[in-house]
Amino acid sequence: MPPLRLLPIALLLAALPARSQEYKSGINWPEPKVVTPGTHGGAPSDAIVLFDGKDLSAWKNGDKWIVADGVATAAKTGISTKESFGDCQLHIEWATPGKVEGKGQGRGNSGVYFMGRYELQVLDSFENPTYFDGQAGAIYKQFPPLVNASRKPGEWQAYDIIFTAPRFDSAGKLTSPAHITALHNGALIQNHAELKGGTFFDKPPSYAAHPPKGPIDLQYHGNPMRFRNIWVREIKPLVPAAK
Ligand code: MG
Repeated sequence: MPPLRLLPIALLLAALPARSQEYKSGINWPEPKVVTPGTHGGAPSDAIVLFDGKDLSAWKNGDKWIVADGVATAAKTGISTKESFGDCQLHIEWATPGKVEGKGQGRGNSGVYFMGRYELQVLDSFENPTYFDGQAGAIYKQFPPLVNASRKPGEWQAYDIIFTAPRFDSAGKLTSPAHITALHNGALIQNHAELKGGTFFDKPPSYAAHPPKGPIDLQYHGNPMRFRNIWVREIKPLVPAAK
């Protein structure tokens, strides 16, 4: 019998469950690769840099745009990555013209197209009403952004986008739709949104089978949109090793 003053502790210890056994999944995961993070939107060490301020050589039609002072300005036509991507993480910084011209879809319009088909809208949506599923951060004509995190005209803004490519079987039938998760200036605007198909101006969304990888396009919509610091990381699933 312990002294009376120790009794509460003895009771407490007796009430504790027996030491538990740690659960282990048994899955033989490889060690996640070490990646040196970038700073303030900078590219992690395993990123493919699509524009670092010097030139648009990673893009088809890149020579049609104007590159000066570390910034690429849209002109003449859209541009398209020479390399193709499937599931990926994209960081892109953009600024709408500081001098406000036009309204609605005519003001600061561009767009990030994955696989040439699925557009996350780029638009000057700072006090510039338009249809909600066409404002900045919308999956065009499918989902408005969860919030409007737009900065003022002329200010630099950032998108961080996680794109999951759709899958098709050998007969061309959709087996898994595309998904987009996106942050606009650090605010979540799309949360694993399931795309209903390609994003079109003049018809409902629909899927048509395409290769597992495709280019990333930046739209030219008549506005001198500026871009900088564009990088992409391919998403490669960790595959457990055989036991
Ligand atoms: Mg657009």
